[in-house]
Amino acid sequence: PGTLYIVPTPIGNLSDITERALTVFKEVDAIAAEDTRHTRKLLEHYGVQVPVFAFHDHNEKAKAEQLIERVINGESIALVSDAGTPLISDPGYALVSLCRKQNVKVTSLPGACALTVALSGAGLPTDSFQFEGFLPSKPAQRRAKLESLVNTPRTLVFYESPHRILHTLEAMADIFEDERQVVLARELTKQFETYLTGSAGELITRLNEDPNQQRGEMVLLVEPFQAPKDTSGPGEDAKRTLQILLEELP
Ligand code: SAM
Repeated sequence: PGTLYIVPTPIGNLSDITERALTVFKEVDAIAAEDTRHTRKLLEHYGVQVPVFAFHDHNEKAKAEQLIERVINGESIALVSDAGTPLISDPGYALVSLCRKQNVKVTSLPGACALTVALSGAGLPTDSFQFEGFLPSKPAQRRAKLESLVNTPRTLVFYESPHRILHTLEAMADIFEDERQVVLARELTKQFETYLTGSAGELITRLNEDPNQQRGEMVLLVEPFQAPKDTSGPGEDAKRTLQILLEELP
């Protein structure tokens, strides 16, 4: 049998392909792509000539079965998405899950992913984070989702689209406390890469002042919820206990 390779592609800077990805592209029998035209253009840039076929969300289950059949029969296939890492808010989960169940070999390559680029660059805590992908597109569901996340003590990471960014920031301004820092990481790895940091309300002002900041591809990150600090110091009981203990000390 062959191998299914999961191969990340650049998220904006064509130099962000790995040597290993290019080697895999040259060795496989075919490449499964979200958008064949887009991927053919990319491959042309790297001088790779391999058959490309379509693999996207609408036909994922049926195509997964066919693709696995090919791998079992000895072909190796690389799965790519339009940009970044397959399966991360992109097709491929049904396929990889089925491969694991059927003991079909899967090799996942490291590479570009907007989530990790934004998280590493944003300046928010990275020890613990929660990736939420895209928020629901319907306003009521989006608000409900944000409300369910308001007390999450981890950095929250969302993918967002330019035509929804203001609405999402407005919902965040209503739902999150005023001090909660939000980072808008935009056009990562590209010419106009920008990180904007501030409260949701401050970011709304910045985006209204400069509509260019509403354009392009974006990741939105929110600082972890912190339980309000108890600033009152030790209570009277604690002080009294401490006094008694101190008197007992030699
Ligand atoms: N699988 C991809 C990855 O690994 O990042 C993500 C695919 S998802 C369909 C596309 C979303 O990823 C965009 O709407 C945006 O939120 C985010 N994204 C992709 N490229 C980006 C970039 N260069 N800068 C900021 N966000 C990006």
